[in-house]
Amino acid sequence: MAEIKTGDFVIPGDFLATAEEFVPGDGAYEEDGKIYSSCTGVVLVDVQTKHISVFSRTLGPPALKRDDVVVGRVEDVRDQSASVYIGVLRGREDRELPLPNMGSIHVSQVHTGYVEDMRRQFKPGDIVRARVMNARRAPVQLLTAGDDLGVIVAACSRCHTLLEREDSKLRCSECGNVEFRKLADDYRQGAI
Ligand SMILES: [Zn+2]
Repeated sequence: MAEIKTGDFVIPGDFLATAEEFVPGDGAYEEDGKIYSSCTGVVLVDVQTKHISVFSRTLGPPALKRDDVVVGRVEDVRDQSASVYIGVLRGREDRELPLPNMGSIHVSQVHTGYVEDMRRQFKPGDIVRARVMNARRAPVQLLTAGDDLGVIVAACSRCHTLLEREDSKLRCSECGNVEFRKLADDYRQGAI
């Protein structure tokens, strides 16, 4: 394998160096001891600081990387997965997101436990906070296992009023409908 050097042109997912040799800078991320490019651009190898970075040609925003926390809107729910339109990268809200911005939550990644019915966890229109598992796939693979992750805003599927939390379930103050979701522990507390 040819060694990556300053000025090389790379695309997302290209191997740059091992994590023993370098630290990932802008436009790069580490996974399993290896550093990869997260964007399309030109490599900068800084031998002094041991950083390896990729500068996007379009001066775009940073790409999503593993363990980033994102906020999105559930678009569609199927037996095995929910698709999410990713709108916000938490902590970096001032920057526009790069493509791809569609994410997917697999049924095995919703909870730490087993999920029987995906449609009891999410519904289209829910606002969900999720963590990036794999940003190199399209759609980006997300997970919501964890107390701080899951639905943060949900509307009644009958009358579209925002649902109130009642212990582990949600109730519509307008029509009395009771629904369930994979909730984040701060459901409707205003934080993204
Ligand atoms: Zn209702």
